[in-house]
Amino acid sequence: MKGVEVTVGQVSRAYGDFKALDDVSVQIKKGEFFSLLGPSGCGKTTLLRIIAGFDYPDNGTVEFDGKNILPLAPDKRQSNTVFQTYALFPHLTVYENIAFPLRLKHVDKNEIDRKVKEYVHLVQLDDHIHKKPSMLSGGQKQRVAIARALINEPRVLLLDEPLSALDAKLRQNLLVELDELHDKVGITFIYVTHDQSEALSVSDRIAVMNKGKVLQIGTPYEIYEAPATRFVAQFIGESNSFPCTVLSCEPFNSEYMLKVDVPALGGIVSVTDYDSQPIGAKIDFTVRPEKIRITAEAPKATNKELNIYCGMVDEPVYSGFQSKFYVRLDNEKHSIIKVFKQHTAFLDEGPEISWRDKVFVSWTAADGYLV
Ligand code: ATP
Repeated sequence: MKGVEVTVGQVSRAYGDFKALDDVSVQIKKGEFFSLLGPSGCGKTTLLRIIAGFDYPDNGTVEFDGKNILPLAPDKRQSNTVFQTYALFPHLTVYENIAFPLRLKHVDKNEIDRKVKEYVHLVQLDDHIHKKPSMLSGGQKQRVAIARALINEPRVLLLDEPLSALDAKLRQNLLVELDELHDKVGITFIYVTHDQSEALSVSDRIAVMNKGKVLQIGTPYEIYEAPATRFVAQFIGESNSFPCTVLSCEPFNSEYMLKVDVPALGGIVSVTDYDSQPIGAKIDFTVRPEKIRITAEAPKATNKELNIYCGMVDEPVYSGFQSKFYVRLDNEKHSIIKVFKQHTAFLDEGPEISWRDKVFVSWTAADGYLV
């Protein structure tokens, strides 16, 4: 099996006056695990349905390996879809459910038997082959649906929130299996999800969508470390974001060092960025909670670009492997900064920090960013 390159060019789709997709362009590489990620209603499923052939765009193109597939019916597109609800036939066994697409095509009986066993094995259901869906767990049912979608050897598998009906632990396990399955079959996977941690952990690349538009396409690392917009910064992971004004911008190593005025922080913040910004530009300054150090003593500013603020712990939240602190700054606005502190066995963490303690929060210029 070989994957196809999927090219979506300037696709728009409206329902009445409502634009579900607005000029969306995405290029998905052969064999890539590509996720469409965004909040409910952003248009992910609409885009997937258009690629599958269950819906049609008002404008734009969809190509597989450079060939226009829009005139083709869904079953002629070399794609197959796995839905959130498993859509299995309740009266058929695992074997019969998976064999179904081959029976429709009148494939030879021995060939059906060989292939069904191969795909049952691929999704690790060998011990359940003669069971009916009612005797299977949610995760097992979804594996049947995946095997059934793969048995016709599509060149692209479309997955529409396939794990959302499962509980958290099972979702995590099945996600790992899906990743391994993708490596084995080598075809293109397009995966729709609203769950950023799912998308970050399995995707080669992600398109982040909101309100019918694609805001950023990149690897999980790029999306997390260099979000292109405030929405992406806030939707992926957690962040502290504040409006700011650019005061200065100087070349610094291969980047730029900027001084920005952040009224919510009551002062000027140093931040490095790949791009230069015009003086006076009004943008947002963001720093992720896990990039901030929280200490009882003032940190020594060995690096003059260290940003240091003093405040009081407003709300500590213990959550096992890490603690979250909401620190109310000692400034005019008393802004809250969110800080995550990992509990590790390796670092001397200093005295324990608790509610109402006076603390210092600090981060380097390289740890903040502007969007
Ligand atoms: P979710 O995660 O909730 O499934 P989504 O990002 O997949 O969300 P879509 O299902 O693509 O969103 O829907 C995008 C928008 O288009 C939604 O506001 C939805 O209500 C609207 N929409 C989708 N299909 C139709 C339809 N057939 N008629 C009218 N509006 C529709």
